[in-house]
Amino acid sequence: MAEPFVRFDLAKIEANARAIVADCARRGISVAGVTKCTCGHPDVARAMLSGGVVEIGESRLENVLRLRRAGVRARFLLLRVPPLSAVEHVVDAVDVSLDSELDVLAGLSAAALRRRRRHDVVLMVDLGDLREGIWPDDLTRFTREALQLAGVRIVGVGANLTCFGGVAPTRENMTRLVALADEVERTFGLALTYVSGGNSSALELIAAGGMPARINHLRVGEAILLGRETLHRRAWPGTSQDAFEIQAEVIELKEKPSLPIGEPAQDAFGHVPHFVDAGDRIRALLDIGREDVDPEGLTPVDSRARVLGASSDYLIVDVTAIAPPVKVGDFLAFVPSYAALLAAMTSPYLAKRPVRG
Ligand SMILES: *Cc1c(COP(=O)(O)O)cnc(C)c1O
Repeated sequence: MAEPFVRFDLAKIEANARAIVADCARRGISVAGVTKCTCGHPDVARAMLSGGVVEIGESRLENVLRLRRAGVRARFLLLRVPPLSAVEHVVDAVDVSLDSELDVLAGLSAAALRRRRRHDVVLMVDLGDLREGIWPDDLTRFTREALQLAGVRIVGVGANLTCFGGVAPTRENMTRLVALADEVERTFGLALTYVSGGNSSALELIAAGGMPARINHLRVGEAILLGRETLHRRAWPGTSQDAFEIQAEVIELKEKPSLPIGEPAQDAFGHVPHFVDAGDRIRALLDIGREDVDPEGLTPVDSRARVLGASSDYLIVDVTAIAPPVKVGDFLAFVPSYAALLAAMTSPYLAKRPVRG
């Protein structure tokens, strides 16, 4: 049996990382390579490290542990602010975590002290995207309290944008982050290592020369994996957009009308679908579905194919225009969006096939 698979080219991922790292280095910015979209795949982490990222950023402790077990040697940065119940694991698994809650910091501190160590933390500030982060007005008070905790060391401040609220990084909000970093340093006599300005959505601002000089760190996933900045999803110069490809097998191939026959009702996901009559079409059913991908995020490599939709376990593709015709047993290839890749790399039903070149 040949299961559907995700094929990824490690040489392209490495080259993408090298291009992004070089663009950031010109502005004094170091890059953490973010592997979370690949479910912490060790080969992807190694390719990023070969491409020059200074550390690996992961959102999940399980992924960090998998990477460590696979022998990936790197500094690990935990991206998702940790749950209070996980502080012991966090201190054991990662070198630095992004944090926003005093109770969690107290837990991390106690866990670190039990190991006769200190745990490094980056304080996350919310600049308006309304996901994680300390409200800016509260940063001084928060820092004062955090400094009472002997087991944690504040090594930076950071912010994350364009994730929940869709707020773009700008010279203004990045200058705000720098001002907050300066204020924390001045008030408490700290020297912060990280002023971590964001993710793949910050690349345009950097390239345009609009990033304040004090921002010295970025956490980058999508731009390295898929070769796109994420403000407008434009291809990033010097990177490949097709390092990842999803392939699935044609398991049924029939000519059928484009309009369903019968009384219209809800589909399997509670939506009432809308169809346009394009006459009889050759339709391929493939052996992946919503269980494995975000079907809206699949772009067929053969531009003559068109994704019509998906249910849990089938992807339905119009292959009428393809010549020579598609056959049952053929594999069709798709370039995934971030959401489709996230699902595919997390799906246990898709094989993961790293290749080089
Ligand atoms: C996922 C994540 C990133 C990386 O985002 P990309 O858009 O993939 O570059 C950076 N920082 C945090 C906190 C994240 O959760």
